Amino acid sequence: MISRHFHPRIFLPPCLFLCLFLRPSAATAADHLSNPLADSPNWKLLEKYQRTLTRDEFERLLWNVYCIHGVSDEFIRLDRDFACILMDRDTQTWFTLRFAKHERTLRSTTRGWRTAQSLRRKKRTGILSGLKIALDPGHIGGDWAKMEERWFKVGDAVPVEEGEMTLRVAKMLAPKLRALGALVSFVRDKTEPVTPFRPDSFRGAARAVLRASGAENPREDFSGPDDPLKEQTVRWQSEILFYRGSEIRQRAKLVNSRLRPDLVLCLHFNAEAWGDERNPTFIDKNHLHLLVNGSYLESELAFDDERFEMLRRLLSRAYDEEIKIADTVAATMAKETQLPPYQYTTDTVARVGTSGYVYARNLVATRLYQCPVVYFEPYVMNNGEVFARIQAGDYEGTRPINGVERPSIFREYADSVLKGLLEYYRSVRK
Ligand SMILES: [Zn+2]
Repeated sequence: MISRHFHPRIFLPPCLFLCLFLRPSAATAADHLSNPLADSPNWKLLEKYQRTLTRDEFERLLWNVYCIHGVSDEFIRLDRDFACILMDRDTQTWFTLRFAKHERTLRSTTRGWRTAQSLRRKKRTGILSGLKIALDPGHIGGDWAKMEERWFKVGDAVPVEEGEMTLRVAKMLAPKLRALGALVSFVRDKTEPVTPFRPDSFRGAARAVLRASGAENPREDFSGPDDPLKEQTVRWQSEILFYRGSEIRQRAKLVNSRLRPDLVLCLHFNAEAWGDERNPTFIDKNHLHLLVNGSYLESELAFDDERFEMLRRLLSRAYDEEIKIADTVAATMAKETQLPPYQYTTDTVARVGTSGYVYARNLVATRLYQCPVVYFEPYVMNNGEVFARIQAGDYEGTRPINGVERPSIFREYADSVLKGLLEYYRSVRK
């Protein structure tokens, strides 16, 4: 992930959504949604969480994970026995969440995933037996890599393509996890989109997004990756609605309705802004960090869909599971890769957990996948040493890279994730 991943949001007046509907049932005119492709919240789905946590637990998750930067009482109000969460700002309707009075009066609820502790393990089966893990190789890669801005090339060297590299790591990791008893699925298993839509499907929506941002007669096309005004073109906006908006939401549908895993691992390689894709800037920095969902900004909580999805995630208690996994795996990866922790320069994130490598951040995938999600960001692809290791490809044993014997970067990635998972599940499934 690089900073270019996250473009400033374009705020849409609610009336605009009337002409943005791709699925007419998705939203009503009253919804204030973050994205033309966002689903309208269904607050009734949260009824099953009534009295499933105490006020103390709710506050712990609210202030330490999800609303670390605070939240206005325009959106969430706390009372002694319940919390009120804004559903609709125009009609001022609120969702009431009642707390359990004591730990011993907690109601239990159903959810689609299981904690490590609740998974029964038969004797003499693998340490991961019965655990359903979905591997989500970040981005699409292949013919789509340049459009995704996840591609650069130096002279005659093999192009660096994040979507292909993350898939390579996932394919290495899967058999290793299966050998230990895990049931592994792929959210994406080729360098093709999961979404059935293509950029042209979103040209109408792209025009509406641009109109809402004040561009009355936007240009259709841009002249190339260096075009400074490309973001104001119909093509660029329809492409981003395709490869980010639609693609990630389609993956979420797959995860939540078909794969239904106990854990999703989102695999990425990091980068710092490289500028010209055919003459990329190289930097000295190289680092590692992992992300879990959290640290919502007030501007994000103002959207009906994000506020609802934040609360759904909080109430599912996915954090308590994913932070333990993320912390353990981060510590193992730090040891194996020798990488320092990434230091964010923005305040959209907050460090959580104990390893020093894990941050909370509100990403679409970590928000929409309804189970524990750990999102990996090791290695800076436009760091000289990382680039040399990517060029060396996959190999057994070690090879000299800048005078130091190193394993294949892909194996190091897969093996260090595996080692961390083993350490965590060994500690809880004795
Ligand atoms: Zn990425």
